[in-house]
Amino acid sequence: MANIIDGKQVSANVKEQVRQETEILFEKYGKRPALAVVIVGNNPASRVYVNNKKKACETVGFQSFEYALPEDTSQEELLELVQTLNEDKNINGILVQLPVPKQIDDKAIINAISSEKDVDAFHPENVGKIMIGDYAFLPCTPAGVMELIHATGIEIAGKKCVVIGRSNIVGKPMAMLLLHESGTVTICHSRTQDLPSVTREADILIVAIGKANFVTADMVKTGAVVIDVGMNRLENGKLCGDVNFAEVESKVSWITPVPGGVGPMTIAMLMKNTLTAFKKQNLFFE
Ligand code: NAP
Repeated sequence: MANIIDGKQVSANVKEQVRQETEILFEKYGKRPALAVVIVGNNPASRVYVNNKKKACETVGFQSFEYALPEDTSQEELLELVQTLNEDKNINGILVQLPVPKQIDDKAIINAISSEKDVDAFHPENVGKIMIGDYAFLPCTPAGVMELIHATGIEIAGKKCVVIGRSNIVGKPMAMLLLHESGTVTICHSRTQDLPSVTREADILIVAIGKANFVTADMVKTGAVVIDVGMNRLENGKLCGDVNFAEVESKVSWITPVPGGVGPMTIAMLMKNTLTAFKKQNLFFE
């Protein structure tokens, strides 16, 4: 039986640290971090994510400002709002909830967000900084995964790490963070040949594909650490990961559940990034 990595607990710890630091800064300087959350249209999943982010802001003592724009918002209108938020000294972090409606180019929006307020760490400048290991903001999901691995107490240095998925927001930065901690990293994707033979080599396996129950017991090494980033909604409405938890759990040493694994970490790391942005924009705190 594997040890379960409790993402709810680890994320609660991260948020509590952020809350405590926020209170200290508030008592000292009378200011709180402020996050602007922009949502365009009526995507129900986006609405849930935005509500969760606002709730997390309350928990840690941040201000949050929601900007809900209609489905038919033009790219120019959204760019204008981003520009206004960039210039607003009372806003420390800007988050535009993705996906945006099809008339809007998400890359143009990401590029327009000031890199200093880019708490998702999607801006090319921040992505570049991740490559060279000189970063203020880490992308929230991969950074959350790193926290979960650290929570196991397992050393990454020298371990064979396999990441399945090469997206810009999860797979690629994930691989880079593991590399920065001296893991020997392999990135797999839909064109990888004989995927099971690669994943079976992994001491640490990170799965970010978006296919329910894709990773089965025969694909993992006995005693591996398995982190399941996947979030898939089944027909019965239940949430499930990319890893077949029931099969894999008995074979590995550590595993994250879905829900309650990586999901809560993403928001906790967003809070951490917003606090970092706040401190960097108010240099007298440094
Ligand atoms: P994505 O952009 O769709 O990327 C999926 C990746 O998986 C691609 O690189 C794709 O390869 C690869 N892939 C697909 N089928 C494969 C297969 N059969 N074998 C090997 N690789 C395969 O997805 P994403 O944004 O990275 O998200 C991945 C999952 O994580 C989704 O379930 C998403 O909901 C979840 N997620 C969770 C959180 C969280 O907070 N928990 C945050 C972000 C994402 P190609 O590049 O070759 O197409």
